[in-house]
Amino acid sequence: MRFFKADIIYPITSPPVENGIVVVNDDGIFQSVERNDDTLPSDQIETFEGIICPGFINTHCHLELSHLKGRLTEKKGLKNFISEIVQLRESDVDSIKAAMIKSDDVMWQNGIVAIGDISNSDISSEVKKNSRIKYHTFVELFDLDESRADQVFEEGVLLLKKFHHEGLPVSITPHSPYSVSSRLFKLISDNAYKFDSILSIHNQETKSEDELFKKGSGELYELMKKYPMYSGFKPAGHSSLATALSRLPKCNKIQLVHNTFSQKEDIVWAKNYSTLIYWCLCINANLFIENTPPPIDLLFNSGIKITIGTDSYASNHSLSVLDEMKSIHDHFPHVPFENILEWATINGASFLGMKELGSFEKGKKPGVSLLKGIKNDFLVNSESNVQRII
Ligand SMILES: [Zn+2]
Repeated sequence: MRFFKADIIYPITSPPVENGIVVVNDDGIFQSVERNDDTLPSDQIETFEGIICPGFINTHCHLELSHLKGRLTEKKGLKNFISEIVQLRESDVDSIKAAMIKSDDVMWQNGIVAIGDISNSDISSEVKKNSRIKYHTFVELFDLDESRADQVFEEGVLLLKKFHHEGLPVSITPHSPYSVSSRLFKLISDNAYKFDSILSIHNQETKSEDELFKKGSGELYELMKKYPMYSGFKPAGHSSLATALSRLPKCNKIQLVHNTFSQKEDIVWAKNYSTLIYWCLCINANLFIENTPPPIDLLFNSGIKITIGTDSYASNHSLSVLDEMKSIHDHFPHVPFENILEWATINGASFLGMKELGSFEKGKKPGVSLLKGIKNDFLVNSESNVQRII
């Protein structure tokens, strides 16, 4: 057995315990939080200053973009970001693999125990297989030509099988509402329904995404109109989110990523559509690309399930859930620390279906992290840091 004492323990699914002691067995399986050390072997108690909580869950990452660290221009908007990333994507396999191994290690050191990772190839499978972090891979598909949909989907299935054969959890998912033809959406949706798999889609990442679906105009439309799907395009008149959800199954878990420009009507729409929707915040990526934080007050006050993602090094300076929490508190200091901690742990575990993670509950193996530099105001700030205990 091991015993970790700290100023406050956050089990997540039960109230915090001041001066508590976390008990785990030698395999890291959580046993209990003790309120006093009377019955414990005092010479074996490891004492820390700070907050102890379970390991973090990063529900949105692109490991295979790790080599793009520091190579894209900040705050120029999504249109510029997409055109830069398309140009930079080619790189040699060895340097991509080396960058992925480094990112994986950085995330482990940052207290992350599980990741929902978007993949467009199988280049990350070896890193994931050898990692101490648990990955769920989303094989992400996009294509704007209806006539190619079956072929693109079959390629996705082959890619899924490669991850599956390595014993890695995997599902097929659409990239975004605007980059997937309706035929491809249907194939992905039917497949998710058939296998009861989880879905993750980029949503309302740029302002002109809604304009495209509502009016058939705007910056994103101008970028996309050269592709077959948009020739003779007739907008349905609904928001990007409403359009996408209507093409996805109601009985599968769906994570909406970014939501930078989501509005109240979108949240109402999503709530009425399904109870299995998770809203992922990637605030640092939003600040990097669009220089706009997501509407966290609106999302928080709506009582929906929120998760946290780092996105990739293409659009972030770090791969740290704690750094995302810092930016959330920097922009929205009134959101309670306890709630943000739930977003960073149990909600992500729930979305990814990783039942052994996300909280200190008997029998789970959620990892143990130490948060330091958080004062009595419970604001995650620039001096806060995370240290992995196990
Ligand atoms: Zn992304």
